[in-house]
Amino acid sequence: MEPATVDVICPHCSVTIGAPPDTMGTTQECPACSKAFALPALPVARLVGTPPARPATRQPDAATSVMKGILMAVVILVAIGFLVYVAWQLTAATSEVGRLQNKYGM
Ligand SMILES: [Zn+2]
Repeated sequence: MEPATVDVICPHCSVTIGAPPDTMGTTQECPACSKAFALPALPVARLVGTPPARPATRQPDAATSVMKGILMAVVILVAIGFLVYVAWQLTAATSEVGRLQNKYGM
């Protein structure tokens, strides 16, 4: 569906004007301040009201890669923590055996 009018911001008084699509790319008089200004061509005018879609679609990708990085760091930290825990348990068990061996003269 083609819009009945295209929103154009007047460079003189910053009023948003609903301009018919067939007047785009021509010089028109602002109905609010009566000053003439050139209406942008249609594809440019469309961008005035609607933000470009690219940043919105790119941001989730960046957030996903950041989340993956954080997840990887957590997994690595948990793995290191587990290894340290196992090593500590083995050391404690070994020293306990040594303590018992000394106690009973083995
Ligand atoms: Zn104006």
